[in-house]
Amino acid sequence: MKDVVYLDYAATTPVDPRVAELLRTLNDPDGNFANPSAVHIAGRRAAAIVESATAEIARMLNCDPRGLVYTSGATESDNLAIAGAARFRAHRGRHLITMPTEHKAVVDTFKALEREGFDVTWLTPESNGLLDITRLEDAIRDDTQLVSIMHVNNETGMIQDIARIGAICRDRDALFHVDAAQSAGKLPIDLANLPVDLLSLTAHKMYGPKGIGALYIADRPGCHVEPLLFGGGQQRRIRPGTLPVPLIAAFGLAASLARAQMAEDERHVAALGDRLWRGIRGVDGVTLNGDEQHRWPGILNVSIHDVEGESLMLALEPVCVATGSACNSQNQEPSYVLRALGRDDLLAQSAIRFSFGRMTTVEDIATAVEAYRAGVKRLRRLAPERAA
Ligand SMILES: *Cc1c(COP(=O)(O)O)cnc(C)c1O
Repeated sequence: MKDVVYLDYAATTPVDPRVAELLRTLNDPDGNFANPSAVHIAGRRAAAIVESATAEIARMLNCDPRGLVYTSGATESDNLAIAGAARFRAHRGRHLITMPTEHKAVVDTFKALEREGFDVTWLTPESNGLLDITRLEDAIRDDTQLVSIMHVNNETGMIQDIARIGAICRDRDALFHVDAAQSAGKLPIDLANLPVDLLSLTAHKMYGPKGIGALYIADRPGCHVEPLLFGGGQQRRIRPGTLPVPLIAAFGLAASLARAQMAEDERHVAALGDRLWRGIRGVDGVTLNGDEQHRWPGILNVSIHDVEGESLMLALEPVCVATGSACNSQNQEPSYVLRALGRDDLLAQSAIRFSFGRMTTVEDIATAVEAYRAGVKRLRRLAPERAA
């Protein structure tokens, strides 16, 4: 058996070996390390690398490459999109809309904007985590400037209907931002035909390196962001700073690989997800967080009513999974996302998130199923008094 069975792809994925090899050659002292802003030949070569990587990412998203701005990851893209668009449009109105089940990078940006005097409507999800479209229609106002709803939820895998949500935003002249950190490179995203104005993505959730992400900004009137950073003239001053050429090239290759094998990756993940769910759904007291119909199959989040998640996670080792949100693993608070879905504290606290992808094998899933069944049994024996 492997010493670690890694089933925490929603926190970060392994780097594809082809991407790792490209990174290695570009970081070599003899590689192309020049600053792409420089006008000398080495700089021009570096700029050409950036240009072709950007074309690959644009191809994956079917968008104009000029709409892409590089950032350090989806956290920064979310901050730039939301705070940047809200501030740019503040003279028109100060009403914004999002959901409490968004990633912290979105939730906490909106909370910061509330402290700046913006008025934020938090739309509660249905019990499966999805947005009820009529709630959005009722909440949107003449002074609404921005709506931010994620594509695939990082805790439950639930997929929001961004085409429908975006159509309502277009109709009401509000910008629509999508956090696509979990879906980019995994689900088809056709920006030429989707009513999306701003879209965040990050390389390390799609087999690329950590530390590089992008924000797509549509070329439409009224769609613009105020910068968060000030410095050189790079990236039309929307996000200045020397471009990390090796990371961008690696992101570009990860995007081109994702596009080339998206259908194959999806089939692989769906088969694994099916196997995993069939293996654990029969355990007494297991409930799925989210639903089976609208879920990205690479994330499976399950609760079990009488077993504590943190203990179960440790009992599963060396299978690596998450409880609640990985970003909150320092505290024992029940997941705010699962609480928003109406799960009580005990159920939310017992949640285990399995997430997997391109490099996961059938054996990994079999190991996880066995470990989950054995772990539940052992913890129930140890603490029978918690049983309902
Ligand atoms: C991982 C993640 C982020 C943060 O991305 P980083 O690149 O780590 O900053 C934001 N939103 C979602 C939905 C994510 O899954």
